[in-house]
Amino acid sequence: MNSKTYYGQFGGQFVSESLMNTLKELDLAYESAVKDTQFKEELQYYLRQYVGRETPLYYAKRLSEAYGTKIYLKREDLNHTGAHKINNVIGQILLAKRMGKKKVIAETGAGQHGVATATGAALFHMECTVFMGEEDMERQELNVMRMKLLGAKVVCVTSGSKTLKDATNEAIRAWAKMGEDAFYVIGSAVGPYPYPKIVKGFQSVISREAKQQFFQAEQRLPEAVIACVGGGSNSIGMFAEFISEKDVELIGVEAAGEGIETGRHAAAMAEGEVGVLHGMKSYLLQEPDGNIRLAYSISAGLDYPGVGPEHAYLKETGRASYVSVTDQEALDALMQLCRLEGIIPAVESAHAIAYAMKKAKTMTMGQAVIVCLSGRGDKDVHTISQYLKQQEN
Ligand SMILES: *Cc1c(COP(=O)(O)O)cnc(C)c1O
Repeated sequence: MNSKTYYGQFGGQFVSESLMNTLKELDLAYESAVKDTQFKEELQYYLRQYVGRETPLYYAKRLSEAYGTKIYLKREDLNHTGAHKINNVIGQILLAKRMGKKKVIAETGAGQHGVATATGAALFHMECTVFMGEEDMERQELNVMRMKLLGAKVVCVTSGSKTLKDATNEAIRAWAKMGEDAFYVIGSAVGPYPYPKIVKGFQSVISREAKQQFFQAEQRLPEAVIACVGGGSNSIGMFAEFISEKDVELIGVEAAGEGIETGRHAAAMAEGEVGVLHGMKSYLLQEPDGNIRLAYSISAGLDYPGVGPEHAYLKETGRASYVSVTDQEALDALMQLCRLEGIIPAVESAHAIAYAMKKAKTMTMGQAVIVCLSGRGDKDVHTISQYLKQQEN
């Protein structure tokens, strides 16, 4: 066991022999890229001119007054393509280009990462193949159309539960076959090392900006930072610069779905056991026989049955805490944010907002939290209206 690839007991590289070398090359390429001024300048250029960074750190005044503490929102919803995912995609595709690759492949669940990857592939003139479960393709028709418009090929995955977990397995298999040619763009802080490190590296821009912006506004550090956790990329990006600031509380919010007690949820940290999936060792939702359990959440971006290895480590060491929020609580928070601030958040991000509201009640007006508003809710309007209709009946 190579301890360099682990976060405590989590992480590692659980892949076929043929991929070990590919991962090593990737690690070397990444480490050299992030030290290279030209690479850094190019990344900076696209984040600014194409993605639209830096994103504002917005003081949500009416929300703050309603809940009794200062609530700042890091506006990742204002990025091109509507969420934080593009930060990582631009970074990885620039890395692929630097490594001389002409093709990228990706997995996608709800389609958000697929759309971001198809976007980056068009921008940098790469051939793009996205693996997506058959069931997800039916549920997320609009994103399938977006990917096709952007010139990507969408491969329909019909194995297993026909969702994200199976699409990821298929993508890893295809990657092992294509080897030299293709770069695998992973969409969250998961997968075999060095992916969790790379995704964190590219998403850290969130907290680098937020820390500075908060300091400008308040001349100090916030009491807490809060972010929702699917695989864990917007949250690790939001935590990164604060991990060494021991007075800042780090809180990750998982999806409790219909309630932890019902078993219909996606809270891998709350209920999960340690196991191996998608090349990593981490907390996973598993059946007693070791099979992976299907995750559920109203937000498609949070229903992943595992969590990135660094989060598992931050939980085990007690540096970060992980809580969960139900569909109902997230939807209530979403409505509040719409009415109080004129912002329709993604249902994923609404989980973080919902917990910030609970947390605020234990704080004072002299204190402050930063919430990562990971994405915008345009994509969720249909889901939201269906949920509200159901409640009326
Ligand atoms: C994909 C997504 C998430 C969850 O993914 P993480 O890797 O945990 O950040 C959260 N919010 C939005 C808006 C998403 O699109």
